[in-house]
Formats: sequence, C-alpha cells, structure tokens
Amino acid sequence: MAEFLPYGRQSIVDADVAAVAEVLRGDWLTTGPAVERFEADLAAVTGGTPAVAVTSGTAALHVAYAAAGVGPGDEVVCTPMTFVATAAAAALHGATVVFADVSPETGNVEVPAVRAAITPRTKVVAAVDFAGHPAALDELAQVAHDAGALLLEDAAHSVGGTWRGRPVGALADLTTFSFFPTKNLTTAEGGAVSCVDPELLARARGFRNHGLVRDRDLQRFPDEGGWHQEVHAFGLNYRLPDVLCALGSSQLSRLDSFVARRRALHARYDAGLSDVDGVATPVTLPGAQPAWHLYALRVRDGRRRALYEHLRERGIGVQVNYVPVYWHPVFADLGYRRGLCPGAETFYAQELSLPLWPDLRDTDVDRVIDEIRGFFA
Ligand SMILES: *Cc1c(COP(=O)(O)O)cnc(C)c1O
Repeated sequence: MAEFLPYGRQSIVDADVAAVAEVLRGDWLTTGPAVERFEADLAAVTGGTPAVAVTSGTAALHVAYAAAGVGPGDEVVCTPMTFVATAAAAALHGATVVFADVSPETGNVEVPAVRAAITPRTKVVAAVDFAGHPAALDELAQVAHDAGALLLEDAAHSVGGTWRGRPVGALADLTTFSFFPTKNLTTAEGGAVSCVDPELLARARGFRNHGLVRDRDLQRFPDEGGWHQEVHAFGLNYRLPDVLCALGSSQLSRLDSFVARRRALHARYDAGLSDVDGVATPVTLPGAQPAWHLYALRVRDGRRRALYEHLRERGIGVQVNYVPVYWHPVFADLGYRRGLCPGAETFYAQELSLPLWPDLRDTDVDRVIDEIRGFFA
C-alpha cells in the first residue's frame, strides 16, 4: 500500500527543534522576548504592519472583532466560503452575521454581493483569501470604508502572498493569520492579528491579555502601588507562548521557500489536470501572487463525492473546503436557509482539495494526478 498523503502537513527541520529547545531551557516560556521577536519577524513579511501574536487563528478573529468594537446590534458581512470560525467569532461578540455570496470560480467573496449586504449597522466586512488567492481587497476596503465599516481579511490561507504588488497583511484594516500545522507556516497552534492603526492595535493587544492596563499614565488608580494593574475593558488570555513564537520565527525564515514550493506543486497539478474533462483547475486573477494553501480542484460533473471516496481509498487524503458556513446547524437554528448563497453552494458541491505541502514530492503529485486521470478515463 502506498504511503498515505494528507491534504496538508507541517514542514519541520532541525533548526525549528533547536529554536524551541533553546527557549525551553531559558527563563521565559511565555510573555518573554521571543513573542516580540516573532511579531517583528511577521511584520517583516507583511509590509511592516505591526502584529499581535495569539493562540490560534480563531483567537485572532475573536481579537480582531473585539478591536473593531463589534457587539450586539452590529452586523458583520461575511463570506460563507470559509471555516466556521470567521463567522462564529463575530457571533460570539453578539453581532448578526450577514452572508455575502462568493464567486463560484474562485470561492472569494464578490464585491457587488458585499455592497448589497451593507446596512447602516455594518461594522466589519470579513473576507477570506480562499486557498491563498487574495480577495479583491482594495475594492472591498472601499466598499467597507464608504459605509463607515472596517475590512477584516482572514488570511489564514495566504500569509506570504501579494495582491497588486502589496503583501497580505498590509491590505486590510485588520488581517488575521492561523499557524495551524496545515497552514503556510506553523506554531502548532497559533495565530496573529496585523493592523496599522495604533488604536486598533492597542485594543487587540489589550483583548489578548485580559484588558490589563499596566501603564500608570493610563490607569484610573495609578497610586495604588507598584503591583497594580487594572482592567478597563474585558479581555481573555490569548497569549502565544515564547516556546511557540520561537518555532514561528524559525518557520518564517523559510516562508519564501515554502511559498515557492507550494507554487511549484500547484503548477504541477495544473499542468497534469488542465486537460481532464469534468474538472476545472484553480483560477488565478491578474494582480494575484498567491501563497497557495490549498489546491482547490473543482469537479464539474457531479462526481465530487465519488472522486473523494476513490482517492481516499487509495491513500490520498483529499479534503473538502468548505461546507457553506450557514449550513452548520448553529446558523440554521438561527434561521439561515439553504439557497442563501448559490455561488458558495455551487463551489462547495464541486470543491476537492488535493494534497499540498512543502515536503510533498513531485512523484507524490504525479501519483495523485494519475489516480484522478484514471478515475475519469
Ligand atoms: C484555519 C482557519 C481558521 C482558524 O484557525 P485556527 O488556527 O485553526 O483556529 C480560520 N479561518 C480560516 C479561513 C481557516 O482556514
């Protein structure tokens, strides 16, 4: 039996292990200098945008919505073609999620759909760079800003990519990242929020750490004593420990090679599959230089499930990304109905993510291509 190929996995080298071990032997396991170092290293790949490291991509979304001031009575316009966390984190702040449909070709949210979903209550527009392909971020920012709302880019798939020459992380008011092992770089669990605006940044930092205020100049009771810290707004503990930040910095030093390898593998799939009847290979729009997280094949003849099962039986760990968010019973129970976003439902019905990770070999890709060609032959 041939080796099982997951759809994604981490790439760990001895330098990563050494970086973690060094922190483990030091004084600071958490809240130490490796955190700021990782945040600075991340800023170096996002056009200098300051970053706040947190414990997951989901935490990053929860922090970003908190920084934006999202609460009960507010609306968040969100893509349905994403992992549930993009919408759930807004709902947990008490906001109403309004879904705007996506392109059935790219899986990215469409600008006219976002414009139509905006109301005076809209606080945030949340887009996802599906598979790593940047959304139409400049148009989306314009639409959001015209409505007095902020643009949040869930860049869980796209760290290392660029859109119209500008790096992901420098394009939206708030950008969130995930460093889960299948993503473009990993800290095991981890994430970050990037933002330029100093007020948003301060609120993000505050929410990450219980809202604690240590700066005496900002305290209401500064004469309480040297130990004193006080809370002005509720927060949580979403601090990413030094141990994991060290892994993140070590991984970031290889981000360019990860991105290059992902692009090469993506191109190899394209070359091997573009002439297969019944499938469509992923679209790249002018202006996009994606850092591909997923290879999102579309299976056009209604045989996606059969192909999924065929490949799984042959040890190829394909995945489907994603069930439209509002199909989850938690949203269905709130009254969201199937049929709400036909583009997303079409995309979901066709999508199949093929194995894609930096240490995947060309021969592995050829094996996947051969199995797909065999299925359609
Ligand atoms: C992975 C992912 C998340 C959640 O990140 P975690 O680190 O797993 O919490 C959020 N949004 C998208 C689009 C993702 O792919």
